[in-house]
Formats: sequence, C-alpha cells, structure tokens
Amino acid sequence: MPTQAKPTNREFGEYDSPFFRQVVRQFDEVKERTGVPSGALERLRYPKRAAIVTVPVRMDDGSTEVFRGYRVQHSLTSGPGKGGLRYHPSVSLPEVSALAVLMSWKCGLMDLPFGGAKGGVNCDPAVLSKLEIERTTRRFTMEILPFIGPDTDVMAPDVGTNEQVMAWIYDTYSMNVGQNVPRIVTGKSVSLYGTVGRREATGRGVVYCIEEAAKHLGMKLDGSRAVIQGFGNVGSVTAQELDSLGAKVIAVGDVGGAVCNARGLDVPGLLQHCSTHRTVRGFPGGEDLPSEDLLAQECEVLVPAALERVITADHVNRIRCRILAEAANGPMTAEADEILRERSDVFVIPDILCNAGGVTVSYFEWVQDIQMFFWDLNDVNERLRRIMTEAFHKCREYAEKERIDMRTAALVLGIRNVALEKAERGLYP
Ligand code: NAD
Repeated sequence: MPTQAKPTNREFGEYDSPFFRQVVRQFDEVKERTGVPSGALERLRYPKRAAIVTVPVRMDDGSTEVFRGYRVQHSLTSGPGKGGLRYHPSVSLPEVSALAVLMSWKCGLMDLPFGGAKGGVNCDPAVLSKLEIERTTRRFTMEILPFIGPDTDVMAPDVGTNEQVMAWIYDTYSMNVGQNVPRIVTGKSVSLYGTVGRREATGRGVVYCIEEAAKHLGMKLDGSRAVIQGFGNVGSVTAQELDSLGAKVIAVGDVGGAVCNARGLDVPGLLQHCSTHRTVRGFPGGEDLPSEDLLAQECEVLVPAALERVITADHVNRIRCRILAEAANGPMTAEADEILRERSDVFVIPDILCNAGGVTVSYFEWVQDIQMFFWDLNDVNERLRRIMTEAFHKCREYAEKERIDMRTAALVLGIRNVALEKAERGLYP
C-alpha cells in the first residue's frame, strides 16, 4: 500500500491563505490532546464541501454588477451547518472557510446540535442601495438553494448583514420551496419568527464572559476602562452592556476612524451619532484618535469586535489591558497569540468561547421555530447567561488542570466533541 504524504501548505490548495493556515495550525497544535483516533481528526482538517457561485445583480442605474458568493460547510456531523453570512469586499473562499472551521469548534464547545458553516458575498454594502442589497441577497440565495435547508445549513447575520438580509433569504427560500420555512435562517426580526434577544446575544455573551473573567481575576468592572474596536452589532451591544455595568468605554473605533474620551464616552450619544454619520469618527463627545493607536490604549478590558487578524506580532507588545475579550472571530494572528501566551498580565477569552452567545441564541431561535412556541426575554437571557458561564468555567477549569492557556483549552474541548461524534459514527461507506 502506498503511504499518504503529509499535507504541506501548498496542499491547502484553494483554501490557502494566512487565515486558513492559522486555523489549521491551531487544529494541529491541539489535536493530540483530544485523545480522539487520528482518522476521525484528519477528516476535520478541511471543509466537507464548498459552493462558489456567481451573483449577477442589476444595479439601480441599469448596469449589471457581478459578485462572487460562497457557502462553506466545514462539518455537518453534529447537525445542520450553522454560521453567518458576511457582505464585505474582502470575502473570499479561504476567509469563509477559516470562519467555517471556527464555527465547528464553537458549536462543539457549546454542545450545540449544529455543524460549522460560513458564507459571504464579496460586495461592499456601504456603497450599495437597499434595493441593490436585496437583489444581491435574493440572487445569492437562489444560487445556493440546493446547498442549504433548515436541516442542512442555516445562515445568520455577520459582518455587513442584518435582520433585513435574513428576511429576504427567508422569503426567497420559502417562495421557491412553496412553503413557509422560517427555520432556514436565524437572526430574523421578532415579527418574522425570530427570537427576542438574538440581536443583542453576541455582545451580551461577550460581556457575560468578561464578568466571569473579572470575578476570576478579582477585578471590579465598575469604574474599569474599556476599549472596543468595531461598533456594529457586536461592538455596540458590548459597549452598551459594559456601560450599564459601570465600566467607562474610553475609546471606540470602526472602519471610518476612532474616538476617545478618558472620562468615558457617552455610549447612547455615540450610537445616535453613528446612526446619522455611519461612523464613530467626528463624535463631538470625544477626540479623534488615529485608528492604529486604538488597540494600544491602556485599559482593563480590550474588545476587538471587527475583523480577523487585526492583532499581529508587530504590535501585540503594545497591548496594555487585563482582559482581552475576542468578540470578533480570529482577531489575533497565530504569531501574536504565541507572544501573548507568555504574558501572564493579559487574560485572553478566546473567540470560540467569547462570541458564542450569537450561535447559542440562534439555536434558541431554531428550537422555537421548530416548536412554534416562543420564549420571553427572561428565558432567553437566563439560559444564555447560564450556558456562557458554564462554558467559561469549563474552559478555565480544564486550562488550569492541564496547565494550558484558555484558547488551547477551548479548542481541545470543542474539537474533541466534534471528532468523538465522527469516530463513534464511523466512516461511510
Ligand atoms: P457589523 O457589520 O455589524 O460591524 C462590524 C464593525 O467593524 C463595524 O463597526 C465596522 O465599521 C467595523 N470595521 C470593519 N472593518 C474595520 C477595520 N478595518 N477597522 C476597524 N473597524 C472595522 O458586524 P458584527 O456582526 O458586529 O461582527 C463583528 C465581528 O463579530 C466579526 O468578526 C464577526 O464574525 C463576529 N461575530 C458576529 C456575530 C453576530 O452575531 N453578528 C456572532 C459571532 C461573531
């Protein structure tokens, strides 16, 4: 029997990119700790399947724009694929694939009956009209229709998408299959079979983790300083929740710039400013700050809540915080992570734990849509807090027992859950 050569970077093929290599490197570093037979583990190295579609869209001026769309299902072992849909010019197959891998480990860690998936369209929603975004969404949904389904792959909002985009997907899918299928997406508005608390769930989950980390470190959040990168769904809710706990949000940045105020920014005022100006820049209640200095502000709580790989080896040593809460997916490069692991002054809450509130409440929404029986906000938030708190301490206790960092602990626990299911079910045929 010829022996199989070990994969090299070149063999990542169409998935190859720094971000995809980063998630495979994480997987390789921790996989032996899972104790799962290597056959099952190796089957999780690459996505199960990926769809690449061409999305032609009629623009308002009558011209035609052609976008590229992707939906990647990394693992469907534990249930339908689950993961966001991103509209951003940087969207590519490797980026979406890396994010799909992280979704698998996240659902494994949180014990949710979902696989990992992710999708996106390489458009810039900031320069498209509402009608153009609707036509993009409906055509993308049509193109991937055979690939998705309420028990196959369920999308949710991510960067550049929102409840309205989910409503268009829900409508397009339902019209095409000839019946009402609200379970095709989560993150819908409450009036369209969504759940209360989903829009706030990711930011709320981030703050539940921060609260547990602060208790563990013997630190008070009241009066502490927080810095947040990204002021979209996740960043703005995180800012509001921290503000309501008495923390001072001293600096916030987004794609347009950054603002700071050492006495604490007026968060409701900043939200108001953003809704008219579409950026935090120019907020009269603070001073403009160069974006490159945002993550280096001295604070107790630092929250990257924008895009991946923003904390690199070049500037990780400039970080001065006590808790680094990874609200974004993959905000730190592997090299930066390695450097930070040696620093005992920074407690990292890793992405697959920190931002898991979103997929957890998406699960609540999916369950409510199956039963057509809807919960109240107390039910949602109490269950979310319990699940996030338990997951946080499961990781912390495992990290302490094994003398490893929080990211390694979260990855081992997440990967082990997915790989064990694979191993137990066996290999078909
Ligand atoms: P969003 O589109 O609502 O907001 C993104 C924010 O990031 C915006 O404020 C934007 O201006 C900012 N941003 C974009 N590029 C930037 C740059 N180069 N520098 C600084 N800021 C930049 O997206 P979101 O849903 O809040 O997602 C943010 C992060 O959280 C992403 O990594 C996403 O994958 C992750 N996440 C989101 C959810 C969810 O439920 N929405 C769940 C889990 C994880």
